[in-house]
Amino acid sequence: VTGGALTGSSAYEVYAVRYGTRSTHRDDVYLNYEIYGEPDQPIEMDYFFWLARNADRTILIDSGFAPTVGARRGRTTLCEPTEALRRFGVEPRNVSQIVVTHGHYDHIGNLARFPDAEIVISRREYDFWTGPYGSRAQFATSAEADEIDHLRRVAERQGMTFVAEGAQPSPGIEVIEVGGHTPGQLVVLVDTEAGQAVLASDAVHYYEEFERDWPFTFVADLEAMYRGFDTLRDIVSDDGRVLVAGHDPDVMRRFTACGDDLAGIAVRIG
Ligand SMILES: [Zn+2]
Repeated sequence: VTGGALTGSSAYEVYAVRYGTRSTHRDDVYLNYEIYGEPDQPIEMDYFFWLARNADRTILIDSGFAPTVGARRGRTTLCEPTEALRRFGVEPRNVSQIVVTHGHYDHIGNLARFPDAEIVISRREYDFWTGPYGSRAQFATSAEADEIDHLRRVAERQGMTFVAEGAQPSPGIEVIEVGGHTPGQLVVLVDTEAGQAVLASDAVHYYEEFERDWPFTFVADLEAMYRGFDTLRDIVSDDGRVLVAGHDPDVMRRFTACGDDLAGIAVRIG
């Protein structure tokens, strides 16, 4: 991780956009929760994608679940992602790039709504989902076959931008490949005026998961998941960086609330 000096020109406004939610239980989200000897309790799970924009670029980090898919899976759509973007004054054609953190349904749904955007994904992640193991039941349950097919079509027809550890898909944006949750799970670091927003996506669903070192229930490589926690601890030990968990309702309290028709839907990071 280089971090690097912030330049005014590459600093972004960064927003976490809470487009969906559901209620669940701790033993549903933490791997082998019973080993911790704590009672099961309800927990809320929010669903986010992230918007980074400056004078030159409008970039999404993930694109949320498709409302129909979310409904089938018992998730509530609070604000359909393209509608949320519209409230920012962003039309799909204005989105220049989408950095996909991993191939799960709640991160790549709606990609087809952005035919003009450059799609960026880890080579390892793409190869996994389009290879022989992504379709096996324990993995496939977290993905939608037609959305993986869409990734294939992007790669074959429009061209996909494949990245690996340390790549900078745009100025002021860096990806860290941590694996763990999925084979090529990315963390995305975005320069803001106040420092770097560390968009953990599903490398850290909950702050509690990170602070208590409790792996998430869906895991491709447990050792890599723990190592990802360590990598993130190292990254956020720098005062100039702020961790943004991927599914934690507390994100809405930790950062600056947006008003008007984005109230309860979006917060500004940094
Ligand atoms: Zn997720």
